[in-house]
Amino acid sequence: MEEVGTGLLDRLDAMQRVAASAPGGPLLIVAGPGTGKTRTLTHRIAYLCAELNVFPEHCLAITFTRRAAEELRHRLDGLLGPVAEDVTVGTFHSVGLQILRENAGAAGLPADFRIADDADRAAARVEAGDDRDAYVAVLRKQDLVDLDELLTLPLALLRADRKLAQAYRDRWRWIFVDEYQDVDEVQYELLRLLSPADGNLCAIGDPDQAIYSFRGADVGYFLRFSQDFTDARLVRLNRNYRSSAPILAAAVQAIAPSSLVRGRRLDPARLDPEAPLVGRYAAGSVADEADFVVRTVDELVGGLSHRSLDSGRIDGRSTTLSFSDIAVLYRTDSQAAPIVDALARANIPVQKRSHDRLRDRPGVAAIARELRHAGGLAGGLPARVRLAGQVVAERFATPTLDGSGAVRPEDVRVAVDLLTPLARRCGDDLELFLSQLVTGAEVDALDPRAEAVTLLTLHAAKGLEFPVVFLVGAEDGLLPLRWPGSEPDEDAVAEERRLFFVGLTRAQDRLYVSHAARRIRQGAERDCRPTPFLDTIDPGLFERLGESEPRRPKDRQLRLI
Ligand code: ATP
Ligand code: MG
Repeated sequence: MEEVGTGLLDRLDAMQRVAASAPGGPLLIVAGPGTGKTRTLTHRIAYLCAELNVFPEHCLAITFTRRAAEELRHRLDGLLGPVAEDVTVGTFHSVGLQILRENAGAAGLPADFRIADDADRAAARVEAGDDRDAYVAVLRKQDLVDLDELLTLPLALLRADRKLAQAYRDRWRWIFVDEYQDVDEVQYELLRLLSPADGNLCAIGDPDQAIYSFRGADVGYFLRFSQDFTDARLVRLNRNYRSSAPILAAAVQAIAPSSLVRGRRLDPARLDPEAPLVGRYAAGSVADEADFVVRTVDELVGGLSHRSLDSGRIDGRSTTLSFSDIAVLYRTDSQAAPIVDALARANIPVQKRSHDRLRDRPGVAAIARELRHAGGLAGGLPARVRLAGQVVAERFATPTLDGSGAVRPEDVRVAVDLLTPLARRCGDDLELFLSQLVTGAEVDALDPRAEAVTLLTLHAAKGLEFPVVFLVGAEDGLLPLRWPGSEPDEDAVAEERRLFFVGLTRAQDRLYVSHAARRIRQGAERDCRPTPFLDTIDPGLFERLGESEPRRPKDRQLRLI
């Protein structure tokens, strides 16, 4: 446990400290990428509890993914010790689930209602056809609740019963929401019921990283925070601790035309004069682009380790790179295949993350089913998960006639590894475990320690950071994405630009942006131009790589905004 008291905020910079120690009342922290939002959020909770005698059980911290929630919990444990357990930490869905569990009767549900899994949903859809209310009825007959209803049902409950809403406001007097720029209408309405207009609501986010409007998120809620919550205090964090100066300058120049933050500033905390420029590679083809990635990965990792350079340090960081330090980001999942193939041919290990979910991983559903049916004899959930894994592996060792032998033993082993941390968190509570499995919508199966190059979509990369980032397919039509021949609408292009900004700002030390001159799209090979998003970036920030374009002398004169 870290030292509490004034020392608690020592590891924050001046503005982070202002945010962490702000008095009660509505608080909006507008913070760009890499400015230490999570650090500030956890320190604020710790400070309030340790210094201002706020009860941990009066605190509710909401994040967007289960992994982010686990990370928050972990850091709070470190700062506060065992009392951190009394802070409620979760996703919107898990908070909704908790409210629903505590009020199942009032919602017309049995206490042991279950959350519909994909198979339940598919069956209900077949039975109900296109009729949404019929669909819900089919689920209800089996005491099932749909994922969306984890938010809509609690919302209806709190709206209908003012005393109940007041009881929750009395319980969670301090609410913290990360990534507030991506809340949707139902989440917003729920927050408004949970927090009075002058309540202790602390919202953190970056409007320039709002990338989920296609899922109903609305950055407008962020922008009107001060109207919704009276006398809201505003704190801006401008110091970026993540990226080298050239990477940060390029990112800031890229977002400039669409920035939603007035007077956006991002100052580099890292000022290494030797920091490499942003590598730009103009590939002739998709295959050429993939080769470029392979070659460069090989140079960065292979080259360094073969020559076994001593681990010199840049900015206090080790320069020895491993595969796990490297990420390849792309706009659409279909771009992954040629790169995965090329890396695999070069014997470079890869792990791919997309929008698939933990429960969609091979073996996970079988283990969950086994757990549900087997009941529990072993002590503790992790042991039960292991046991269920064994049963599943044995059962499928001899393929069955119905084709369900498709789960391979190695998939089961991986699935057990993926499920164990969650099982550990859920202790003995099987229902909690199964419902978390369904509600933790994002994969989060990605293992940050795996010795492999990570491939992921730009959307999935949100919130993460890597020493080396390749942003591939930086082409007009792909980023911004649009159907050939169609005219993009302005808002959509602005969101795509924000996505580009999210991608650039994942990089810590080295960033490579590449585009191919020809690519197959919609079944036909087409000529491609580089994305216009590159146009607002000072050419002096790039180092042109490869033979397709003439090399230019390096210009180390950085023009920082
Ligand atoms: P994003 O918008 O991309 O989610 P973020 O604002 O959440 O970014 P973090 O991921 O919390 O940023 O922090 C970025 C990096 O900066 C982390 O590696 C973090 O440890 C480091 N960092 C944050 N604050 C400080 C500080 N005061 N001193 C040193 N390092 C810091
Ligand atoms: Mg973050």
